[in-house]
Amino acid sequence: MDFSLSPEQREMIDAIRKVRLKEIAPKSIRWLDGEFPHENLASLARIGVLGMAIPEEYGGTDASVLDTVLALEEISKACYVTGVAVEGEIGVQARIIATFAPDHLKARYLPRVAAGEATLSICMTEPDAGTDVPNYRTNSRIVGDRVVVNGAKTLISRADIADVLIVFTRVNGIAGAQGIGCVLVPRGTKGLIAKPSYHTMGGEQLSDVVFEDCEVPLDHLILRENSMKTLMGAFNTQRCLNAAICLGLAEGALEQAIQYMRDRKAFGQRIGDFQGLRWKTADMFIEIEAARCLLYRAAASAAPFPEPVITAAAKTYCNEMCIRVTSEAVQIHGGYGFTDEFMVSRLFRGARYGSLGGGTTETLRNYLGRHLVEHVDLASGIGA
Ligand SMILES: Cc1cc2nc3c(=O)[nH]c(=O)nc-3n(C[C@H](O)[C@H](O)[C@H](O)COP(=O)(O)OP(=O)(O)OC[C@H]3O[C@@H](n4cnc5c(N)ncnc54)[C@H](O)[C@@H]3O)c2cc1C
Repeated sequence: MDFSLSPEQREMIDAIRKVRLKEIAPKSIRWLDGEFPHENLASLARIGVLGMAIPEEYGGTDASVLDTVLALEEISKACYVTGVAVEGEIGVQARIIATFAPDHLKARYLPRVAAGEATLSICMTEPDAGTDVPNYRTNSRIVGDRVVVNGAKTLISRADIADVLIVFTRVNGIAGAQGIGCVLVPRGTKGLIAKPSYHTMGGEQLSDVVFEDCEVPLDHLILRENSMKTLMGAFNTQRCLNAAICLGLAEGALEQAIQYMRDRKAFGQRIGDFQGLRWKTADMFIEIEAARCLLYRAAASAAPFPEPVITAAAKTYCNEMCIRVTSEAVQIHGGYGFTDEFMVSRLFRGARYGSLGGGTTETLRNYLGRHLVEHVDLASGIGA
Protein backbone atom coordinates (compact mmCIF):
# COMPACT_ATOMS: atom_id res chain seq x y z
CA MET A 1 0.00 0.00 0.00
CA ASP A 2 1.56 3.27 -1.16
CA PHE A 3 0.24 6.49 0.40
CA SER A 4 2.56 8.83 -1.47
CA LEU A 5 1.47 11.19 -4.24
CA SER A 6 3.18 10.99 -7.63
CA PRO A 7 5.57 13.74 -8.82
CA GLU A 8 2.89 14.81 -11.35
CA GLN A 9 0.28 15.12 -8.60
CA ARG A 10 2.66 17.22 -6.49
CA GLU A 11 3.42 19.43 -9.47
CA MET A 12 -0.30 19.99 -10.09
CA ILE A 13 -0.93 20.84 -6.42
CA ASP A 14 2.01 23.29 -6.44
CA ALA A 15 0.65 25.04 -9.54
CA ILE A 16 -2.78 25.40 -7.92
CA ARG A 17 -1.23 26.54 -4.64
CA LYS A 18 0.49 29.41 -6.45
CA VAL A 19 -2.86 30.55 -7.89
CA ARG A 20 -4.52 30.08 -4.49
CA LEU A 21 -1.99 32.22 -2.65
CA LYS A 22 -1.65 34.92 -5.30
CA GLU A 23 -5.17 35.25 -6.66
CA ILE A 24 -7.81 33.28 -4.76
CA ALA A 25 -6.98 33.90 -1.09
CA PRO A 26 -6.48 37.69 -1.21
CA LYS A 27 -9.90 38.24 -2.81
CA SER A 28 -11.97 35.54 -1.14
CA ILE A 29 -14.07 38.07 0.80
CA ARG A 30 -15.32 39.43 -2.53
CA TRP A 31 -17.58 36.49 -3.31
CA LEU A 32 -19.76 36.76 -0.21
CA ASP A 33 -22.35 38.78 -2.14
CA GLY A 34 -23.24 36.01 -4.57
CA GLU A 35 -21.17 37.03 -7.58
CA PHE A 36 -19.79 34.05 -9.54
CA PRO A 37 -15.95 33.99 -9.34
CA HIS A 38 -15.36 34.00 -13.11
CA GLU A 39 -11.87 35.46 -12.81
CA ASN A 40 -10.66 32.72 -10.48
CA LEU A 41 -12.01 30.09 -12.87
CA ALA A 42 -10.21 31.81 -15.76
CA SER A 43 -6.91 31.58 -13.82
CA LEU A 44 -7.53 27.92 -13.03
CA ALA A 45 -8.50 27.18 -16.66
CA ARG A 46 -5.11 28.57 -17.74
CA ILE A 47 -3.31 25.89 -15.72
CA GLY A 48 -5.61 23.15 -17.01
CA VAL A 49 -7.77 22.59 -13.92
CA LEU A 50 -11.17 23.01 -15.60
CA GLY A 51 -10.45 20.27 -18.13
CA MET A 52 -9.59 17.64 -15.57
CA ALA A 53 -12.82 15.63 -15.95
CA ILE A 54 -12.80 15.93 -19.73
CA PRO A 55 -11.26 13.38 -22.14
CA GLU A 56 -8.11 14.47 -24.00
CA GLU A 57 -9.84 14.34 -27.40
CA TYR A 58 -12.16 17.11 -26.17
CA GLY A 59 -9.41 19.34 -24.81
CA GLY A 60 -9.16 18.00 -21.27
CA THR A 61 -6.60 16.02 -19.34
CA ASP A 62 -8.78 13.02 -18.45
CA ALA A 63 -7.61 13.18 -14.84
CA SER A 64 -8.61 10.60 -12.26
CA VAL A 65 -11.26 11.32 -9.63
CA LEU A 66 -8.43 11.33 -7.06
CA ASP A 67 -6.63 14.08 -9.01
CA THR A 68 -9.78 16.20 -9.06
CA VAL A 69 -10.11 15.65 -5.30
CA LEU A 70 -6.54 16.87 -4.78
CA ALA A 71 -7.21 19.94 -6.91
CA LEU A 72 -10.41 20.87 -5.14
CA GLU A 73 -8.87 20.30 -1.70
CA GLU A 74 -6.10 22.78 -2.55
CA ILE A 75 -8.48 25.43 -3.97
CA SER A 76 -10.93 25.19 -1.07
CA LYS A 77 -8.28 25.96 1.56
CA ALA A 78 -8.80 29.60 0.67
CA CYS A 79 -12.30 30.01 -0.72
CA TYR A 80 -15.48 27.98 -0.44
CA VAL A 81 -17.22 29.88 -3.25
CA THR A 82 -14.41 29.16 -5.72
CA GLY A 83 -14.32 25.54 -4.54
CA VAL A 84 -18.00 24.93 -5.33
CA ALA A 85 -17.69 26.85 -8.60
CA VAL A 86 -14.85 24.59 -9.74
CA GLU A 87 -16.72 21.51 -8.50
CA GLY A 88 -19.33 22.29 -11.18
CA GLU A 89 -16.75 22.00 -13.96
CA ILE A 90 -14.61 19.06 -12.81
CA GLY A 91 -17.40 17.04 -11.22
CA VAL A 92 -20.23 14.80 -12.19
CA GLN A 93 -21.72 17.19 -14.78
CA ALA A 94 -18.74 16.93 -17.11
CA ARG A 95 -18.37 13.20 -16.44
CA ILE A 96 -22.05 12.54 -17.26
CA ILE A 97 -21.66 14.32 -20.60
CA ALA A 98 -18.31 12.61 -21.31
CA THR A 99 -19.69 9.16 -20.44
CA PHE A 100 -23.27 9.18 -21.72
CA ALA A 101 -23.84 11.98 -24.28
CA PRO A 102 -23.57 11.47 -28.06
CA ASP A 103 -20.28 12.60 -29.64
CA HIS A 104 -21.63 15.79 -31.22
CA LEU A 105 -22.86 17.07 -27.81
CA LYS A 106 -19.50 16.20 -26.22
CA ALA A 107 -17.79 18.15 -29.02
CA ARG A 108 -20.15 21.10 -28.57
CA TYR A 109 -19.73 21.57 -24.83
CA LEU A 110 -16.67 19.82 -23.37
CA PRO A 111 -13.87 21.79 -25.12
CA ARG A 112 -15.50 25.05 -24.02
CA VAL A 113 -15.75 23.84 -20.42
CA ALA A 114 -12.07 22.87 -20.44
CA ALA A 115 -11.17 26.32 -21.77
CA GLY A 116 -13.22 28.06 -19.07
CA GLU A 117 -15.67 29.41 -21.66
CA ALA A 118 -18.76 27.41 -20.66
CA THR A 119 -20.26 26.34 -17.35
CA LEU A 120 -22.41 23.38 -16.42
CA SER A 121 -25.17 22.96 -13.88
CA ILE A 122 -26.74 19.83 -12.46
CA CYS A 123 -30.46 20.04 -11.70
CA MET A 124 -31.78 17.36 -9.38
CA THR A 125 -33.53 18.96 -6.41
CA GLU A 126 -37.20 19.91 -6.78
CA PRO A 127 -39.40 22.05 -4.55
CA ASP A 128 -41.18 18.95 -3.17
CA ALA A 129 -38.39 16.36 -3.37
CA GLY A 130 -34.66 16.65 -2.83
CA THR A 131 -33.37 13.48 -1.21
CA ASP A 132 -36.41 11.65 -2.55
CA VAL A 133 -35.16 11.13 -6.13
CA PRO A 134 -37.78 8.47 -7.10
CA ASN A 135 -40.49 11.09 -6.57
CA TYR A 136 -39.06 13.79 -8.83
CA ARG A 137 -41.84 15.24 -10.99
CA THR A 138 -39.98 16.97 -13.81
CA ASN A 139 -40.98 15.03 -16.90
CA SER A 140 -39.58 14.58 -20.40
CA ARG A 141 -42.19 13.54 -22.92
CA ILE A 142 -40.93 12.01 -26.15
CA VAL A 143 -42.77 13.35 -29.20
CA GLY A 144 -41.34 11.97 -32.45
CA ASP A 145 -37.70 13.04 -32.64
CA ARG A 146 -38.14 15.72 -29.94
CA VAL A 147 -38.37 15.76 -26.14
CA VAL A 148 -40.62 18.18 -24.29
CA VAL A 149 -39.49 18.95 -20.72
CA ASN A 150 -41.82 20.32 -18.04
CA GLY A 151 -41.19 20.83 -14.34
CA ALA A 152 -39.36 22.83 -11.68
CA LYS A 153 -36.05 22.55 -9.86
CA THR A 154 -34.76 24.49 -6.88
CA LEU A 155 -31.58 25.27 -4.90
CA ILE A 156 -29.51 24.85 -8.07
CA SER A 157 -25.94 26.14 -8.20
CA ARG A 158 -25.06 28.48 -11.13
CA ALA A 159 -28.20 27.56 -13.16
CA ASP A 160 -28.57 31.24 -14.04
CA ILE A 161 -25.23 31.36 -15.87
CA ALA A 162 -24.82 27.77 -17.06
CA ASP A 163 -24.51 27.03 -20.76
CA VAL A 164 -26.10 23.64 -20.34
CA LEU A 165 -28.25 22.14 -17.59
CA ILE A 166 -27.99 18.42 -16.84
CA VAL A 167 -31.47 17.61 -15.62
CA PHE A 168 -32.66 14.55 -13.71
CA THR A 169 -36.04 13.84 -15.25
CA ARG A 170 -38.89 11.40 -15.38
CA VAL A 171 -39.31 9.94 -18.87
CA ASN A 172 -42.76 9.74 -20.45
CA GLY A 173 -44.41 10.00 -17.01
CA ILE A 174 -43.25 6.54 -15.88
CA ALA A 175 -43.76 6.48 -12.11
CA GLY A 176 -41.14 5.83 -9.41
CA ALA A 177 -37.44 5.05 -9.66
CA GLN A 178 -37.99 3.20 -12.96
CA GLY A 179 -38.96 6.46 -14.66
CA ILE A 180 -35.77 8.42 -13.93
CA GLY A 181 -33.43 9.47 -16.75
CA CYS A 182 -31.36 12.51 -17.69
CA VAL A 183 -31.85 15.25 -20.29
CA LEU A 184 -29.54 18.08 -21.41
CA VAL A 185 -31.22 21.46 -21.72
CA PRO A 186 -29.05 24.17 -23.30
CA ARG A 187 -29.21 27.79 -22.18
CA GLY A 188 -31.52 29.77 -24.42
CA THR A 189 -34.01 26.93 -24.91
CA LYS A 190 -37.48 28.46 -25.19
CA GLY A 191 -39.41 27.94 -21.95
CA LEU A 192 -36.31 27.64 -19.73
CA ILE A 193 -36.30 30.16 -16.90
CA ALA A 194 -33.43 30.13 -14.36
CA LYS A 195 -33.01 32.95 -11.91
CA PRO A 196 -30.96 33.42 -8.74
CA SER A 197 -33.47 33.11 -5.93
CA TYR A 198 -31.58 32.44 -2.70
CA HIS A 199 -28.50 34.09 -1.23
CA THR A 200 -26.77 31.50 0.96
CA MET A 201 -24.71 31.61 4.14
CA GLY A 202 -21.75 30.32 2.08
CA GLY A 203 -21.91 33.43 -0.13
CA GLU A 204 -23.07 31.96 -3.44
CA GLN A 205 -26.52 32.25 -5.01
CA LEU A 206 -28.79 29.30 -5.70
CA SER A 207 -31.44 29.39 -8.42
CA ASP A 208 -34.97 28.30 -9.06
CA VAL A 209 -35.40 26.76 -12.50
CA VAL A 210 -38.62 26.28 -14.47
CA PHE A 211 -39.07 24.22 -17.64
CA GLU A 212 -42.21 25.18 -19.55
CA ASP A 213 -42.63 23.02 -22.65
CA CYS A 214 -38.86 23.15 -23.27
CA GLU A 215 -38.29 21.31 -26.51
CA VAL A 216 -34.92 19.71 -27.30
CA PRO A 217 -33.82 17.07 -29.85
CA LEU A 218 -34.32 13.44 -28.78
CA ASP A 219 -30.57 12.81 -28.53
CA HIS A 220 -30.46 15.34 -25.65
CA LEU A 221 -32.23 12.70 -23.56
CA ILE A 222 -28.85 11.16 -22.81
CA LEU A 223 -30.18 8.58 -20.36
CA ARG A 224 -33.62 7.05 -20.83
CA GLU A 225 -35.90 5.65 -18.11
CA ASN A 226 -34.48 3.00 -15.76
CA SER A 227 -31.27 5.02 -15.32
CA MET A 228 -31.54 6.07 -11.69
CA LYS A 229 -28.98 3.47 -10.59
CA THR A 230 -26.56 4.58 -13.30
CA LEU A 231 -27.00 8.25 -12.40
CA MET A 232 -26.60 7.68 -8.66
CA GLY A 233 -23.49 5.59 -9.39
CA ALA A 234 -22.01 8.50 -11.33
CA PHE A 235 -23.03 10.82 -8.51
CA ASN A 236 -20.45 9.21 -6.21
CA THR A 237 -17.96 11.42 -8.06
CA GLN A 238 -19.77 14.47 -6.69
CA ARG A 239 -19.78 13.01 -3.20
CA CYS A 240 -16.00 12.74 -3.30
CA LEU A 241 -15.67 16.30 -4.56
CA ASN A 242 -18.04 17.65 -1.94
CA ALA A 243 -15.89 15.89 0.66
CA ALA A 244 -12.73 17.35 -0.94
CA ILE A 245 -14.11 20.86 -0.48
CA CYS A 246 -14.73 20.04 3.20
CA LEU A 247 -11.23 18.63 3.61
CA GLY A 248 -9.76 21.78 2.04
CA LEU A 249 -11.87 24.11 4.20
CA ALA A 250 -10.74 22.28 7.34
CA GLU A 251 -7.08 22.39 6.33
CA GLY A 252 -7.35 26.08 5.51
CA ALA A 253 -8.96 26.72 8.90
CA LEU A 254 -6.23 24.83 10.78
CA GLU A 255 -3.51 26.74 8.92
CA GLN A 256 -5.22 30.05 9.74
CA ALA A 257 -5.57 29.00 13.39
CA ILE A 258 -1.89 28.05 13.67
CA GLN A 259 -0.83 31.40 12.19
CA TYR A 260 -3.11 33.25 14.60
CA MET A 261 -1.73 31.29 17.56
CA ARG A 262 1.78 32.37 16.54
CA ASP A 263 0.81 36.04 16.16
CA ARG A 264 -1.71 36.78 18.90
CA LYS A 265 -0.61 37.54 22.46
CA ALA A 266 -2.52 37.24 25.76
CA PHE A 267 -1.25 37.40 29.31
CA GLY A 268 2.19 38.36 28.00
CA GLN A 269 2.68 35.32 25.81
CA ARG A 270 1.66 33.90 22.43
CA ILE A 271 -1.74 32.24 22.64
CA GLY A 272 0.00 29.34 20.88
CA ASP A 273 1.88 28.73 24.13
CA PHE A 274 -1.33 27.77 25.95
CA GLN A 275 -1.59 24.01 26.18
CA GLY A 276 -5.41 24.10 25.87
CA LEU A 277 -5.13 25.64 22.40
CA ARG A 278 -2.27 23.35 21.34
CA TRP A 279 -4.48 20.35 22.15
CA LYS A 280 -7.19 21.82 19.96
CA THR A 281 -4.78 21.97 17.01
CA ALA A 282 -3.66 18.38 17.71
CA ASP A 283 -7.27 17.15 17.56
CA MET A 284 -7.97 19.19 14.42
CA PHE A 285 -4.92 17.67 12.74
CA ILE A 286 -5.87 14.10 13.73
CA GLU A 287 -9.37 14.57 12.31
CA ILE A 288 -8.08 16.06 9.06
CA GLU A 289 -5.60 13.24 8.51
CA ALA A 290 -8.23 10.56 9.24
CA ALA A 291 -10.63 12.25 6.81
CA ARG A 292 -7.93 12.49 4.16
CA CYS A 293 -7.21 8.74 4.32
CA LEU A 294 -10.88 7.87 3.92
CA LEU A 295 -11.43 10.31 1.08
CA TYR A 296 -8.34 9.43 -0.95
CA ARG A 297 -9.25 5.76 -0.62
CA ALA A 298 -12.79 6.47 -1.84
CA ALA A 299 -11.57 8.58 -4.77
CA ALA A 300 -8.94 6.00 -5.73
CA SER A 301 -11.65 3.33 -5.98
CA ALA A 302 -13.19 5.01 -9.05
CA ALA A 303 -13.75 2.64 -11.97
CA PRO A 304 -14.95 4.88 -13.54
CA PHE A 305 -17.07 6.13 -10.59
CA PRO A 306 -16.10 5.79 -6.90
CA GLU A 307 -17.28 2.78 -4.91
CA PRO A 308 -20.47 3.84 -3.05
CA VAL A 309 -19.89 2.36 0.43
CA ILE A 310 -16.48 3.84 1.14
CA THR A 311 -17.60 7.07 -0.57
CA ALA A 312 -20.62 7.38 1.75
CA ALA A 313 -18.33 6.86 4.76
CA ALA A 314 -15.76 9.36 3.47
CA LYS A 315 -18.30 12.06 2.65
CA THR A 316 -20.11 11.74 5.98
CA TYR A 317 -16.86 11.91 7.95
CA CYS A 318 -15.38 14.78 5.93
CA ASN A 319 -18.63 16.79 6.18
CA GLU A 320 -18.90 16.49 9.95
CA MET A 321 -15.16 16.78 10.60
CA CYS A 322 -15.14 20.04 8.66
CA ILE A 323 -17.85 21.60 10.81
CA ARG A 324 -15.94 20.67 14.00
CA VAL A 325 -12.54 21.82 12.75
CA THR A 326 -13.64 25.13 11.24
CA SER A 327 -15.68 25.88 14.38
CA GLU A 328 -12.60 25.34 16.57
CA ALA A 329 -10.60 27.62 14.27
CA VAL A 330 -13.18 30.36 14.82
CA GLN A 331 -12.90 29.78 18.58
CA ILE A 332 -9.12 30.11 18.46
CA HIS A 333 -9.52 33.50 16.75
CA GLY A 334 -11.62 34.83 19.64
CA GLY A 335 -14.12 37.58 18.73
CA TYR A 336 -12.30 38.40 15.50
CA GLY A 337 -13.17 34.91 14.32
CA PHE A 338 -16.80 35.96 14.09
CA THR A 339 -16.06 38.85 11.72
CA ASP A 340 -15.89 38.70 7.94
CA GLU A 341 -12.37 40.12 8.09
CA PHE A 342 -10.85 36.78 9.00
CA MET A 343 -10.96 33.89 6.61
CA VAL A 344 -12.04 31.40 9.30
CA SER A 345 -15.57 32.79 9.51
CA ARG A 346 -16.02 32.25 5.77
CA LEU A 347 -14.53 28.75 5.94
CA PHE A 348 -16.90 27.93 8.82
CA ARG A 349 -19.94 29.12 6.90
CA GLY A 350 -18.89 27.14 3.85
CA ALA A 351 -18.45 24.06 6.03
CA ARG A 352 -22.19 23.95 6.67
CA TYR A 353 -22.84 23.14 3.01
CA GLY A 354 -21.11 19.74 2.97
CA SER A 355 -23.66 17.63 4.83
CA LEU A 356 -26.57 19.17 2.88
CA GLY A 357 -25.39 19.00 -0.74
CA GLY A 358 -24.44 15.88 -2.68
CA GLY A 359 -26.50 13.48 -0.56
CA THR A 360 -27.30 14.42 3.02
CA THR A 361 -25.46 12.68 5.83
CA GLU A 362 -28.78 11.16 6.96
CA THR A 363 -29.34 9.44 3.62
CA LEU A 364 -25.74 8.29 3.49
CA ARG A 365 -26.11 6.77 6.97
CA ASN A 366 -29.33 5.08 5.78
CA TYR A 367 -27.39 3.64 2.89
CA LEU A 368 -24.44 2.52 5.04
CA GLY A 369 -26.71 0.99 7.69
CA ARG A 370 -28.67 -0.93 5.06
CA HIS A 371 -25.46 -2.17 3.48
CA LEU A 372 -24.03 -3.32 6.82
CA VAL A 373 -27.15 -5.05 8.13
CA GLU A 374 -28.45 -6.48 4.85
CA HIS A 375 -25.47 -7.15 2.63
CA VAL A 376 -22.14 -7.53 4.41
CA ASP A 377 -20.78 -11.06 4.32
CA LEU A 378 -19.47 -11.48 7.88
CA ALA A 379 -17.50 -14.56 6.86
CA SER A 380 -15.32 -12.27 4.72
CA GLY A 381 -15.43 -9.38 7.22
CA ILE A 382 -16.58 -5.77 7.01
CA GLY A 383 -13.37 -4.53 5.42
CA ALA A 384 -13.48 -6.94 2.51
C1 LIG B 1 -25.00 25.10 -1.24
C2 LIG B 1 -25.93 24.17 -1.90
C3 LIG B 1 -25.81 23.92 -3.26
C4 LIG B 1 -26.72 23.06 -3.89
N1 LIG B 1 -26.60 22.87 -5.22
C5 LIG B 1 -27.44 22.02 -5.85
C6 LIG B 1 -27.33 21.78 -7.25
O1 LIG B 1 -26.47 22.33 -7.94
N2 LIG B 1 -28.20 20.91 -7.83
C7 LIG B 1 -29.18 20.27 -7.12
O2 LIG B 1 -29.90 19.50 -7.70
N3 LIG B 1 -29.33 20.50 -5.79
C8 LIG B 1 -28.48 21.36 -5.14
N4 LIG B 1 -28.63 21.60 -3.80
C9 LIG B 1 -29.75 21.00 -3.08
C10 LIG B 1 -29.37 19.78 -2.27
O3 LIG B 1 -28.89 18.75 -3.09
C11 LIG B 1 -30.60 19.37 -1.46
O4 LIG B 1 -30.87 20.42 -0.55
C12 LIG B 1 -30.41 18.05 -0.75
O5 LIG B 1 -30.39 16.97 -1.67
C13 LIG B 1 -31.51 17.78 0.28
O6 LIG B 1 -32.78 17.90 -0.32
P1 LIG B 1 -33.90 18.83 0.36
O7 LIG B 1 -33.29 20.16 0.64
O8 LIG B 1 -35.11 18.77 -0.49
O9 LIG B 1 -34.16 18.15 1.76
P2 LIG B 1 -35.19 16.97 2.07
O10 LIG B 1 -34.98 15.85 1.11
O11 LIG B 1 -36.54 17.54 2.19
O12 LIG B 1 -34.69 16.51 3.50
C14 LIG B 1 -34.91 17.31 4.68
C15 LIG B 1 -34.21 16.61 5.84
O13 LIG B 1 -34.77 15.30 6.00
C16 LIG B 1 -33.72 14.33 5.93
N5 LIG B 1 -34.23 13.12 5.29
C17 LIG B 1 -34.84 12.99 4.09
N6 LIG B 1 -35.12 11.71 3.84
C18 LIG B 1 -34.68 11.00 4.90
C19 LIG B 1 -34.68 9.61 5.26
N7 LIG B 1 -35.18 8.69 4.42
N8 LIG B 1 -34.15 9.24 6.44
C20 LIG B 1 -33.60 10.18 7.30
N9 LIG B 1 -33.59 11.50 7.02
C21 LIG B 1 -34.10 11.91 5.84
C22 LIG B 1 -32.64 14.98 5.10
O14 LIG B 1 -31.36 14.36 5.32
C23 LIG B 1 -32.70 16.42 5.60
O15 LIG B 1 -32.02 16.53 6.83
C24 LIG B 1 -27.75 22.43 -3.14
C25 LIG B 1 -27.85 22.68 -1.77
C26 LIG B 1 -26.97 23.52 -1.14
C27 LIG B 1 -27.10 23.77 0.33
